[in-house]
Amino acid sequence: MSVVAIVGRPNVGKSSLFNRLIGRKLAIVEDIPGVTRDRLYAETEWDGKRFYLVDTGGIESASPHPFQDVIARQVQMALKECDVVIFLLDGKEGVTAGDEAIAEMLRRSSKPVIVAMNKIDNPKREDNVLDAYSLGFHTVMGISVEHGIGIGDLLDSVVSALPDEGEPDGTDDGVIKLSVVGRPNVGKSSLFNRLIGQERAVVSPIPGTTRDTVDVDVRLGDVDVRLMDTAGMRRKSRVDDPLEYYSVVRTLKAIDRSDVSLVLMDATELLTEQDKRLMLHVEERGKGLIIGVNKWDLLPPREDLGDVIRDQIRDQMPTLSYAPLIFLSAKTGRGVHRLPPLVSRVYENRRRRLKTSDLNRLLRDTLEFERMPGDGKGRYLKVYYATQADTVPPTFIFFVNDRDLADRSFTRRLEKHIRALGDFEGSPVRIWFRNRD
Ligand code: GDP
Repeated sequence: MSVVAIVGRPNVGKSSLFNRLIGRKLAIVEDIPGVTRDRLYAETEWDGKRFYLVDTGGIESASPHPFQDVIARQVQMALKECDVVIFLLDGKEGVTAGDEAIAEMLRRSSKPVIVAMNKIDNPKREDNVLDAYSLGFHTVMGISVEHGIGIGDLLDSVVSALPDEGEPDGTDDGVIKLSVVGRPNVGKSSLFNRLIGQERAVVSPIPGTTRDTVDVDVRLGDVDVRLMDTAGMRRKSRVDDPLEYYSVVRTLKAIDRSDVSLVLMDATELLTEQDKRLMLHVEERGKGLIIGVNKWDLLPPREDLGDVIRDQIRDQMPTLSYAPLIFLSAKTGRGVHRLPPLVSRVYENRRRRLKTSDLNRLLRDTLEFERMPGDGKGRYLKVYYATQADTVPPTFIFFVNDRDLADRSFTRRLEKHIRALGDFEGSPVRIWFRNRD
């Protein structure tokens, strides 16, 4: 998925625009540079196109450096990591020297830039919009975030500037795309290095990205794997570095590009909020999911520890119980050999197609005995037939009398039945209901 960044001087309204574009109620944004923000990126959609939006204003508040430097870095990072830049100006002030400086940096890149002049809520300021053309960009518009003026036009311009997405998911070149993701310090780079260190690795730049974003092709056992580059894999960054700030977006992009994601956790600090969010994100994206518990060497040797942790994870993440667990130590190498076959299995499972005869059997034999959900007034859900509409991930459509009758618990039970018919370990399964005409 593409990434769109909002850049501009402090206080031009970046965070307000961010909030407006992600469809949240306008947050109270004080007129103070560097107010703390709770959210720095979000996924949003316009006209059927989805993209990640980044509020680079967060860098200002996170950094102890002088403003000028911070803004320069903010813009440079945006250019490096993003596909489209929204350059926001303040219509009350018109074009300032600070804007000129930013414009110069933006002009040096080939990324599409959309100039939006904010706070254009009275006709007197419209001349300022014309001034903005002097910055040298094609697309210039006046908007008012506060009054909701011009936001739709801005979004139209943004989505028309988005690049075409790369190869669609599911294209099979025989190489399994694997992303290793997780919080900082869980051991991603240690594992990455262990995996590529033991085999000959071929480093391949990703088309359309900067030179230092590279995927690595490696043969692990008898499995060809492409390790997706994620932030902080090969290079450490400081916390106040904008690079760190973009690492979340990079992680999300890596997940998007992969078939299977290994969400790595630290065995001594399991199931943090961030861990859980990442796992749910992988599921939401329909990717294969493996849960990795790293730093196994730090735990006391106890025979039932694996089971205890397994129960704990299943307990806290009940909807992800299909995801296999792997216990390993990137440091000692213990358990790492079990990863490649597991990745390969999850990859296959995510492409699995059930036989129609199996699905029919499910309807005929299993659902016969199932308590069907009803409306409480004597009407019950009836399933007529089912079909597997898709793979990656496996998607099933159940044709019914009234889809509104299908509730969550019934869907969960259906999923269980489907998983009993075929090996879908590690793969999400999608279930849709459709009314039979
Ligand atoms: P990343 O930020 O997720 O890439 O994490 P790193 O790979 O940089 O690891 C963070 C720290 O944890 C480093 O000091 C590693 O040496 C250490 N580490 C990584 N994996 C293991 C492991 O399996 N066991 C132990 N004891 N330490 C580990």
